[in-house]
Amino acid sequence: MARLTILEYPDPRLRTKAAPVTRFDADLKRQIADMFETMYTAPGIGLAATQVDWHYRLVVIDISEGKNDPQVFINPEILEKSGAATGEEGCLSVPGIYDDVPRAERIRLRSQDAEGKVLTRELDGMLAVCVQHEMDHLEGRLFVDYLSELKRQRIRKKLDKERRERGGTARKAGARQGHSSSPGT
Ligand code: ZN
Repeated sequence: MARLTILEYPDPRLRTKAAPVTRFDADLKRQIADMFETMYTAPGIGLAATQVDWHYRLVVIDISEGKNDPQVFINPEILEKSGAATGEEGCLSVPGIYDDVPRAERIRLRSQDAEGKVLTRELDGMLAVCVQHEMDHLEGRLFVDYLSELKRQRIRKKLDKERRERGGTARKAGARQGHSSSPGT
C-alpha cells in the first residue's frame, strides 16, 4: 500500500468532475487500499478519489472510533433525501478549517462495492452527512463553497500563509490542536 498526496484548496484539480468506475479489477482494489491508508494516516474519516487526484467515482469512509469499519462507495447515487442536518464539517483538502454546512439528515443511497455489486442502503447521522460531503468532491464541489465569499477569502489567505510557513514541505500528519474531535473528510 502507498500513501497518496492529498490535494489542497484552492488546487484547481479539486474542481474536476469524476467519471464513473467501470472496471472492478485489481487496480481498483489497490486504489481503495491506498486511499484507506492515506485517510487513516491523515487522519480523516472520509476521502474521495478526487482529493488524491484520481478522477473516478470512488469514496472511502470510516466513522468508527476504532477505525475498524472501512466502507467503500463506488458510483454512489442519492435516490432520496429527507430532513435537515447542519453540523460542523472539516476536510482534508481544507486543513484546519471547520464550519457549518446544511445537509440532508437521511439519504437513500445506491452504490457499488469493490466487486461491482449494487447495494441500496438507508443512511442517517454522521455517515449520511459524510457521504454527502464526499459525493460533493466527485462533482468538484468543496464544503467551503457553501460559505460566504468573504469566509472563503479568509480561508485561502490562512492556508496560503500556512503553506508558506511549511516551506513547501509535506504537512506532518496528526497534531492539529483543538480539533482532534473533528477529523477531516
Ligand atoms: Zn472533504
